[in-house]
Amino acid sequence: MDAEHLSRKDFLSLTGKTVALGVAGTLAANGLLHQNVLAQTRPRAVSPPAKIPPGVDEPIVLEAWKSDVDQQSGPTPTPLPPDHRIGYAVVGLGHLALEEILPALSSCEKSRLVALVSGSPEKLKKVAAQYGVAPQNCYSYDTYDQLKNNPEVDVIYIVLPNALHKDYVVRGAKTGKHILCEKPMAVSSKECEEMISACNAANVKLMIAYRIQYQPHNRKLREFVQNKTFGVPKLIEACNSQSSANPAHWRHKKALAGGGALPDIGLYCLNTNRFILGEEPIEVFAYQYSTPGNPLFTEVEELMSWQMRFPSGVIASSSTDYNVHESRRYRVMCEKGWLNMDKAYAYKGQKLTTARAEGKMERQEEIGLAETNQFAAEMDHFSDCILKNKRPFTPGEEGLQDHILMEAIYQSAKEGRPVKLTHKVNQPLRGPEPELDA
Ligand code: NAD
Repeated sequence: MDAEHLSRKDFLSLTGKTVALGVAGTLAANGLLHQNVLAQTRPRAVSPPAKIPPGVDEPIVLEAWKSDVDQQSGPTPTPLPPDHRIGYAVVGLGHLALEEILPALSSCEKSRLVALVSGSPEKLKKVAAQYGVAPQNCYSYDTYDQLKNNPEVDVIYIVLPNALHKDYVVRGAKTGKHILCEKPMAVSSKECEEMISACNAANVKLMIAYRIQYQPHNRKLREFVQNKTFGVPKLIEACNSQSSANPAHWRHKKALAGGGALPDIGLYCLNTNRFILGEEPIEVFAYQYSTPGNPLFTEVEELMSWQMRFPSGVIASSSTDYNVHESRRYRVMCEKGWLNMDKAYAYKGQKLTTARAEGKMERQEEIGLAETNQFAAEMDHFSDCILKNKRPFTPGEEGLQDHILMEAIYQSAKEGRPVKLTHKVNQPLRGPEPELDA
């Protein structure tokens, strides 16, 4: 049996307490088991149950009662018993961690919160009490490296300001834990390369939290585009904009943010365009603007507007602005129709509409899909990769590619000319397609 091809059930039964080390040892001796898989068999502080009950990872089939004129529900969730889930340490307790990530961990099937890292002892105590994190699993930034000694922690999730990602990923890799890092991956492509090297050297997995690549509506649109359901794609128009008000916030400090609207929210247009097309741009051309005298934009840009040219001939026009009412949408124009995504990059509420000609009529359709929690989906994907020893769908190379492109965009805006992409990232950028419930 090849470790790369273990089913979840096979793998979990191998990692059962009593048999894990013996079986893993035999497979490793045969050269069949990757070191990361071995890492999963280490003893945990909290004793796992002997074996998960057979079939617990198979959906329970309920009696059917709906007719097929209605949208079907299910399959039923298949949560792993808590002690078999991958343990997460969340680093940085700001807006994203407290408003989205910690609540999402409660609804994960393969991931669970086990540790917290914060610079504020009061916040740490309160959040730990809210989420049932043991006091000995609470760390400060000074004691962060001690995560190494916590066998309950499998993954370190970095949710800090952008300029801190590199140091915390490199230090995190040295603890031997797998790393999930928020977007943007860092503040430069050079930092991304260091982060990838550090994780490779430590033999730990690195994933960048590109939640849109795990979101059902965006994935369905990608399927339509790549299957040419509406003909050959020709043009994309994308915009991700919002309004900010606090010039003292780290997002408006170049040293902490790396840039303004582009790396924070424009990145969604950039990354999603690449994702849906499944190809990489060969040239970019950009304009940048900041309202003179606005204290929000003394260090970072307000607006970036850019075009990317792809090898297939598709031109993607994108724009982002930190100083307008929120708008998150894109449209893909194809030879025989278009696909439109409203609330495209939002945490929820995606609306996918398509149009095509039918004789004298234009048929417009809204594609209704069940919503999933994007953060839970991406964390469970990463946990799945650890359980099955797979490469993440959005590994560090995916973040590096975006930084190379953003550097070209800034260069183009500065020089007022198109910039060709010469810096090539090793292919394939992404890991195998995620196994998602939706
Ligand atoms: P935030 O400002 O709300 O939280 C940042 C946390 O980092 C705070 O708890 C803060 O105390 C801590 N911190 C530690 N050292 C700091 C320092 N030197 N300066 C400032 N803060 C420091 O930010 P956020 O909105 O939670 O964003 C965190 C990361 O998550 C960013 O990289 C951001 O791009 C990313 N993000 C991703 C999404 C998404 O949808 N995937 C959404 C929002 C933010």
